[in-house]
Amino acid sequence: ASDPNYLLRTKQVVDMSHMKTYPKNPAMCSEEARLGTYQNWPGYAPVTPSELSNAGFYYTGTGDRVECFCCGEKLTSWEPGDRAWLEHKKHFPYCLFILGHDVGNVPLEAESTV
Ligand SMILES: [Zn+2]
Repeated sequence: ASDPNYLLRTKQVVDMSHMKTYPKNPAMCSEEARLGTYQNWPGYAPVTPSELSNAGFYYTGTGDRVECFCCGEKLTSWEPGDRAWLEHKKHFPYCLFILGHDVGNVPLEAESTV
């Protein structure tokens, strides 16, 4: 006897591998590493590299486009008054870094306490 629904349910339970794909870019877990990507950050951008890297973003090297080390989503077209963390939260509320999960982020402050 076969029960397709049972098989489907079983697969759904087992297939949790996608949950372990965070962070998307482990190399950018360190805030210091992220900050280092803003060498050519455009001067017209209204958001600072330190604020962006603190919010999980590193520079992609194109325009003012940044990418989150955790969810892998990109943000661009920053406007005056934008706050990096709030924009991140607004556009990608499911991001585990934004949600406060331990995704391996290494904040700048941690460097001195090691
Ligand atoms: Zn994110």
